[in-house]
Amino acid sequence: MLVAKWLRPDLYVSAMEDVDLDWLAERGVRGLLLDVDNTLVPWKSREVTEAKKEWVARAMERFAGVCLLSNTIFGKRLKYLSETLGIGAVRRWGMGRKPATGGLKAALEILGVGPSEAAIIGDQIFADIWAGKNGGLTTVLVDPEEPDKEFPSTRMLRVFERGLRRRWAKEMRR
Ligand SMILES: [Mg+2]
Repeated sequence: MLVAKWLRPDLYVSAMEDVDLDWLAERGVRGLLLDVDNTLVPWKSREVTEAKKEWVARAMERFAGVCLLSNTIFGKRLKYLSETLGIGAVRRWGMGRKPATGGLKAALEILGVGPSEAAIIGDQIFADIWAGKNGGLTTVLVDPEEPDKEFPSTRMLRVFERGLRRRWAKEMRR
């Protein structure tokens, strides 16, 4: 299946905090773009788990920076999360939503790194991974925190995601 090849992430793990920082560093990654909903927090949530906070802190220490990149319509919540974690945030909606790469470029500018020195971590194949592929970044797919609570349009895409996840899980999940 051609789409399975084109959208195949460089890494697929259960959760954001399972992403090995050594693995990223070995690939030359210096900047991280983090999706928010269902990657950093459950959908619409403001609660970041201790494990995720720790992981972000370690990544901040080690790399040039971490920046949130979200399609959310809830700007205040994104601001809260970015301030709580002490990291930057970029928000795009309408036509600028991921997989469009405008937000991604803005986030790279904040971090001061080029696409080949950055990774995007997200739970949506047709938004996060696609945007990362278009932008030439290292791509990391995670399982969604709460896939049952989402916009109907996202849930529809999850149906298409299922087959791809199953296939990639066999190939590379640790
Ligand atoms: Mg998401």
